Parts: sequence; C-alpha cells; structure tokens
Amino acid sequence: MTHLPASLDFLAGLEISNRFVDALPADPLNKNYARQVTHACYSRVAPKQFKAPHLIAWSPELAEAMGLPAHIQCIDATQRAELAQVFSGSRLLPGMQPYAMCYGGHQFGHWAGQLGDGRAINLCEVSTGAQERQVIQLKGAGPTPYSRSADGFAVLRSSIREWLCSEAMHHLGVPTTRALSLVITGEAVVRDMFYDGRPKAELGAVVCRVAPSFLRFGNYEIFTSRGDIPRLRQLVDFTLAEHFPHLAPGSQADYLAFYREVCERTAALMVEWIRVGFVHGVMNTDNMSILGLTIDYGPYGWLEGYDLEWTPNTTDAQGRRYAYGQQPQIAQWNLAQLGNALYPLVEDIEALQEVFSSYQQCYTSLWQEMIARKLGFPAFEANSDLDLFMRLETLLQRTETDMTLFFRNLADVDVTQAADAQEDLALIQPLLESYYGNPLEDRSYLAAMGAWLRDYCQRAQQAPEPALARRQRMHAVNPRYVLRNYLAQRAIDLAERGDYAEIETLLDVMRQPYAEQPEYADYARKRPEWARDRAGCSMLSCSS
Ligand code: AMP
Ligand code: MG
Repeated sequence: MTHLPASLDFLAGLEISNRFVDALPADPLNKNYARQVTHACYSRVAPKQFKAPHLIAWSPELAEAMGLPAHIQCIDATQRAELAQVFSGSRLLPGMQPYAMCYGGHQFGHWAGQLGDGRAINLCEVSTGAQERQVIQLKGAGPTPYSRSADGFAVLRSSIREWLCSEAMHHLGVPTTRALSLVITGEAVVRDMFYDGRPKAELGAVVCRVAPSFLRFGNYEIFTSRGDIPRLRQLVDFTLAEHFPHLAPGSQADYLAFYREVCERTAALMVEWIRVGFVHGVMNTDNMSILGLTIDYGPYGWLEGYDLEWTPNTTDAQGRRYAYGQQPQIAQWNLAQLGNALYPLVEDIEALQEVFSSYQQCYTSLWQEMIARKLGFPAFEANSDLDLFMRLETLLQRTETDMTLFFRNLADVDVTQAADAQEDLALIQPLLESYYGNPLEDRSYLAAMGAWLRDYCQRAQQAPEPALARRQRMHAVNPRYVLRNYLAQRAIDLAERGDYAEIETLLDVMRQPYAEQPEYADYARKRPEWARDRAGCSMLSCSS
C-alpha cells in the first residue's frame, strides 16, 4: 500500500485490491439516492463520516490474518481511534474503492425485485495469504442507492448479535462470514423495534464483515429477471474465475458444475445448522451465499428446547417458513430459484433439474453422517438408525428438552451398563440437566425415554469400542457452548449501558465451544425462566 500518512503506518500490512470493481460493470451514476440500477453489478458509494466512532470489539485472529494488529490492548489510543475511523468507513485508506452491490431476491417465497446492499458498503479486498483474498464490508455505514426507504444504518443490539454470532459460528466450524470489528458510531438511529408505532432512538453501530465474497443467489437472479444475460454471464464468469478456479468460464458444462457445487455447499451448510441448532430466521434468496456461507445475521436464534417448528423471527411466526426443521427444504427451494437464474447460461432444463434433485441425496447422506457422529456411532446404519433417531426426535419434542445439553450429555450415558440397568432413572440421570420441566413427574415419558435409551445403548454396543473414543467423537460435534439467545441479550443490555466487557467474555467462551471450560460453566446452562418470553431472547423482528 502506498502513501499512508505516518499515523496510519501501523496499517501498512493491509494489501488492498479491488478485483470485483475492476472486473465488473459499474452503475454509471455516481450519485447516492435510492433508485433502480440496471446493467450494473454495483454502485460506487462513499460511507458516511461519523463524528465520534469508537471501537468496542475486535477479532484478534482475523485481524492477524489480515496483517492488522491482533491485540488492540497493545496499541495506543490514537491508533485505536484510527481503527475506529477506518472500520466505520469514516476514513478511507488509499486504494479503497467503496461500493454497494446490486442484487434482487425472493423474500418469503415471492420475487421482490431489486434489493441490493441497502446498508452494507464494501471497502475493498485484502490479502490474507498466498492465494487468499477477503472482502471487507461495513454493515451500517450509511445509505446507498439500494436503501429504498430505509436509512442505511444499523443499531448496536443487532450489530452485537451479528458480531458475536459470526465468530461463534466460525469457532463451531460452521461456514460463515466473519466479523473483524464492532464500532459504535456515536450517532442515534431511530427504530420501531416491535413495529408498534413507538419508535425510539438507539445507538448506531457498524460491523466490519469479512468473507471471500458476499455474492448471494440474488446477485444472479436480478439479471435473469431483467433479461440481462450478458451481465449474468459476466458475473458468473467472474465468480468462477475468482472462487471456483477449477471451473472454466464460458463452458456450459462448467456452469452446470458450478450449480452442482453451490447445491453441495448449501446442503453441507444446512447439515451444519441442523447439527448445532442454528435457525437463520430469514432464508430469503438474497441471504443465501453463493459460497455456502452463513450470511446476514438478523433475527436468527439458537434452539433451546428441541423443536422442529421453532422460529425466532416474529415476522415469520404465522407461516413458520424459516423454522428450524424447514431450513433444508427452504434451501432447496432457494436453489431452484438459483437454477432458474442460471438457466440462460446452461440451456438444459433436464440437466439443471437432475442437479437440483441431487440436493436431496447429498443432504441426506451428509445428514446421516452427522447424526451418526452426534449419537456416537462410527457410521449410520440406514434403516435402523433412522428409526432410532426419529423416535428420539419425537421424545425430544414431547417435553421441553435443551438440544445442546441433551446431545452433549448423551456422551455421559454408560452404554455398557444398559443390559443390567433395571431402572430407567439410572439411565436418564446424565440427561436430567437438559430438561426444562421435571421428566420424573411423567411416568409414561420416563418409560418411553428409558426404552429408547436401552435401544440406544444396545446399538452403541454393536461395535464395542473404548468409552473414550465414543465420548471424543460425540464431543467433537456436540458443543458444550452455543451463543444462547439470552447470553447475547445479556451482553447487549450491558453494552447499551456502556459496559462492553461481556461481549469480550462471550467471544472468549465461544472460542472453544467443544471444550469443557469449568471457569465458564455458567455459560453452558439452559435458558433461565426470565428469558423465556423476553424480546431479544426468544422473539426478534427484522427491524434492525
Ligand atoms: P435483510 O433482511 O437484512 O437481509 O435485508 C433485506 C434488504 O433490506 C436488503 O436489501 C437490505 O440491504 C435492506 N435493508 C435492511 N435494513 C436496512 C436499512 N436499515 N437501511 C437500508 N436498507 C436496509
Ligand atoms: Mg440480507
């Protein structure tokens, strides 16, 4: 990087490039007002300059990979202030060419036309290794041509949620966009959190998100919907060259192979969400990453009681389109929309359909592997294990059972004792912590769960192995810690009063979600009763 003022020398490690901007067509209009943008992949737009941005959270691992100081505690106040300036968009570094992307999307099953980065501004790409490049994107840095009637800003509560969850997902091993920093802007943002006509001023914030690409299904859909096939081709060719380099731009067969890979990555992502109990909440096609990453953390939530129909999104409370158990099917529906968008390039409807249909098989085989690991079996036995799991799923929903604790503690069931176990109670003992009510009061439940556990133990004993091996296998996929909805809300409540320490602590806990961390035992506990119906803990709206 060239021409950095001396005060920014400490950022000299950032290697800036702008390949998206350089390769793809821009909106010729350089003005920032809401409009339809045609024949362009993006619009150039300057982020807002905030008066008093202040850095409140920083991801050291990511910073280091990008050539930035890992520990903000080790830099002086002036440098910290500079970071707040840069990562709120208030100060552009030489070489940055900020832009907002044009995309469309299907929202809640209906084509919504142009959406676009209404409150996200991409600053540039930076190198993070020999071949790797990451896009730096600010969420909440001001309006763009895609802001429609909204303001382009984000509030602190939703920014904390995005910041924490991106990093928590990463540490859980789930593909996701990352979050580098969290800055409070010092300016108020007005929001009607409950859509009840009582708007209130909230603290504004900017999250700096990082991913190899923020391209969504909607980036492709918009061009096909407008019949702009030359731009569609340009964008797909760029995507292949940058992100699927083993596929050749211009080849119909490779366009199809591209679709297949997106289907496979999406299937793998859905299996991961199901594994950890994550519910995205707004799986519109504009929120589906072309790289199979979790993207756009809005009204997401984590399963507490296992419930296939649970959704954290109040806007979806009626239809439950995006409920936990719906996610794999909805992903496939979204992939159908992507298939339609790619049709003009592939021009073979049967071939596209064949790939689309293979999603189900791909998902099922990955899901089976995952369930086997969750239950502690070396491999999934098609019919009998499916039956065993379905019985468990019914039981988990019969009385409110914490998903995370149940699977984690299942590793503590002594499967060798089962043959002698006279009492269901002894078998169920390690699992008691996971119940929100008292299962001991329900004899028929206890009997059913006892019967299931005896079958489970018998199955686990089919291929006897040291207890430690089974336990390790289970612990590697069943986290002790997830970003429980109330934990994030507690950090938000404190941050809104100016205390940011809990954000730091939570990230520290979530850094090792599969390890027993006795000093953080409190963070593994099931949701306390006060959080059951509290806004932010169990119900969220899109208004962020
Ligand atoms: P989301 O539900 O966050 O995925 O957003 C859907 C669409 O609305 C995207 O085009 C967003 O950029 C846009 N949007 C959401 N919130 C805002 C906001 N505060 N200002 C401008 N655009 C927004
Ligand atoms: Mg979105």
